[in-house]
Amino acid sequence: MQRQQTIIEESLKAIMEDEEFLPDLKSQTREQAYKSLVALLSTPNHVHKSFLRVALENGTIVRVPAFRVQHSDTVGPYKGGIRFHESVNEEEVANLAKLMTLKNALHELPFGGGKGGVVINPKEYSVKELNLICKKYVQYFNDILGPDKDIPAPDVGTGEREMDWMMGEFKNIHPGEPYRNSFTGKSIVNGGSLGRRESTGKGVYFTFRYMMHDFVKENKKWLGETENRFAHTALDHSDQKLKIAIQGFGNLGSVAALEAYQCDDLQNKVVAVSDAGVMLYNEDGLDIPGLVQYTKDNDGDLPASEEELRHHDINADVKERDDLLTLDVDVLILAALEDQIHNENMEDIQAKLIVEGANGPITEEADKYLADKGVLIVPDILANAGGVIVSYYEWVQGREAQFLTEDEVFKRLFDKMKGTMDTILPQFFSDPFPLRQNCYIHSVMKLSTIMYRQGKLY
Ligand code: NAD
Repeated sequence: MQRQQTIIEESLKAIMEDEEFLPDLKSQTREQAYKSLVALLSTPNHVHKSFLRVALENGTIVRVPAFRVQHSDTVGPYKGGIRFHESVNEEEVANLAKLMTLKNALHELPFGGGKGGVVINPKEYSVKELNLICKKYVQYFNDILGPDKDIPAPDVGTGEREMDWMMGEFKNIHPGEPYRNSFTGKSIVNGGSLGRRESTGKGVYFTFRYMMHDFVKENKKWLGETENRFAHTALDHSDQKLKIAIQGFGNLGSVAALEAYQCDDLQNKVVAVSDAGVMLYNEDGLDIPGLVQYTKDNDGDLPASEEELRHHDINADVKERDDLLTLDVDVLILAALEDQIHNENMEDIQAKLIVEGANGPITEEADKYLADKGVLIVPDILANAGGVIVSYYEWVQGREAQFLTEDEVFKRLFDKMKGTMDTILPQFFSDPFPLRQNCYIHSVMKLSTIMYRQGKLY
């Protein structure tokens, strides 16, 4: 996550040299403003830490470390998930909170950035104990949470069940006050938004499709005339039948795969998918609906043997899981874990376009190597914002107690992501920076301008 800090500082340097940015700042005050902004963006506003007192079912009392980091509320109330994981720590939560500030600013959501963590392996606790941990989290952090203060959502190890419990506890503590929009990612019946589950996977595929189909096709002429190497990567691939490989077939990867399978606009086929156990490959394109149905019936896992595949009438070869990353494909969608492309496999990557569905799936060194090679990387901050965008719609729906149809939610999601892409892409294809840098420049510029206008830089 040092990379995040480096990109923020580089972005600030770039915008400080632009005289159109805060034009009333003279050269000396620009230097001061730069230092102030580095300080403000690199540190969180608040780090809240507690040791939750939890009574286990066997009668023992344990202390469970829990955090809520509130990075910035410049643009609006803090917003970000709560992670339940045995290795989660304060530094990780603080970095994720910062990423939320930048992501929300990039997509023009009226939120700041926050993140929470509870240091447990949820699989080691009973349902009753998990329910108690969720209630205690809300009780201990009660003063700092709320629909206009800080609105948590699910993250690794948490889901709609935990958000339902937490909202229920918030409601108990605050009788008669608004509560529906105190947490997002809730179940539909309990005030969640239709489409929230599919939102990140749909958004990930949308960013790719919009860039390669709508944007590249509409802007073909001037893209062809620029010297920009990324523009040529995009142009050279926009007319081909693209071969896609997707790492991870969970909530995000399976939805992105289905979107690709059903897409009529773009000529593409998903030739490989993987999960924690296996990679499946079919040169002519995999039967994605068949695989989605299989995972629904089999606890989320892909079929792991030729026999199992035959039994379900699915035509594919079973291969080594990690070989997916180095296949001869046009596009890689990374939808599993962080740090998947690193210095040991970066030279073997053949894809010309990589979409980051997971957060940070490419290490700093590999990112630089691939960008220098002209590989077009659609970064996490741009590609995987579908979840927080639909969380925003859930928050608005809770406020108004009026609910949107699924079609309305997806239309708003795609309009929002299109708005961001239309702001970023013309700039990106005109200058030599990678797309990640462009996104950060845009986000940091927006945050800096608002901080300046709010008088936070004096
Ligand atoms: P998930 O748990 O539903 O699915 C993860 C998938 O990755 C599973 O299929 C799992 O088997 C697979 N996997 C694990 N290790 C693997 C490996 N080494 N190689 C290949 N596959 C492997 O999670 P998800 O909700 O689909 O999220 C995927 C990633 O995206 C996570 O890192 C998550 O933090 C991130 N993310 C998710 C959302 C969201 O809204 N779902 C939003 C932003 C970021």
